[in-house]
Amino acid sequence: MIVTSQPRTQPDITPEQKPSVSPTKPVLIRLERLCKAYTEAGQSHMVLDELNREFYTGEFVCLLGKSGSGKSTLLNLISGIDAPTSGDVMIRDGAREVTITALSEHARTLFRRNHIGIVFQFFNLIPTLTVLENVTLPLELAGKANGTRDRAVALLERVGLANRLASYPDKLSGGEQQRVAIARALVHDPLLVLADEPTGNLDDETGVTVLKLLLELTRDAGKTLFMATHAPDVAEQADRVLHLVHGKLVNDQLAKSNG
Ligand code: ADP
Ligand code: MG
Repeated sequence: MIVTSQPRTQPDITPEQKPSVSPTKPVLIRLERLCKAYTEAGQSHMVLDELNREFYTGEFVCLLGKSGSGKSTLLNLISGIDAPTSGDVMIRDGAREVTITALSEHARTLFRRNHIGIVFQFFNLIPTLTVLENVTLPLELAGKANGTRDRAVALLERVGLANRLASYPDKLSGGEQQRVAIARALVHDPLLVLADEPTGNLDDETGVTVLKLLLELTRDAGKTLFMATHAPDVAEQADRVLHLVHGKLVNDQLAKSNG
């Protein structure tokens, strides 16, 4: 990413791109002319097409879209796992706004480690670490050694796994593994939590339980939750529902009225 000191031009916000809510909370995430294109066999394929958006502290944003519409791509740009073709992602960290997309890959990794919690579809627990070790790891990586164990244990109690601290992930059910992942996503007190189809690999009933926990814990901690999902009932509980259609973010209401 090239960092430019020139003033940026005002992004074009078309009516359908305006947020459906008028929050009073501070902006946490800003997307500015964010584009991601992939080139395959000489053909460029625009997955995210000039996204301009603001998301707010404490908001629960639900991102819907067909498989292949670019949901994971967007989450990976916000978390800095991936870099855009052009445009920027900014995240507010206290008094400063960090342009994630202007950071080196290493700096992005450090930022993610310190400030972002991620819940993945396939849990992504480390198989050679116990439940407790999986949850304390982010704290240790972030250099927060004090009270590490207590905080991890408290969160594992919240997700109902206090009796499984010494178990290894392969001894847990899918739902239990995702509950560990939720504890892991929150343990380092992140600025925001990203969840990419967190119930996509669970049966319906387990998915409902896991989702309830994820919502409760992020809301209680006042965290922004940005979730990509296929589950329509999740959208009912969200503060904002967005559809990703042909590379653009569209408000849910508009997407419905457009058929
Ligand atoms: P979703 O999460 O909504 O299912 P993705 O963000 O995974 O969608 O993918 C969006 C589009 O980008 C798809 O067409 C996919 O094939 C393409 N894509 C994703 N990653 C790559 C990659 N590394 N190289 C080429 N194309 C990719
Ligand atoms: Mg995906």
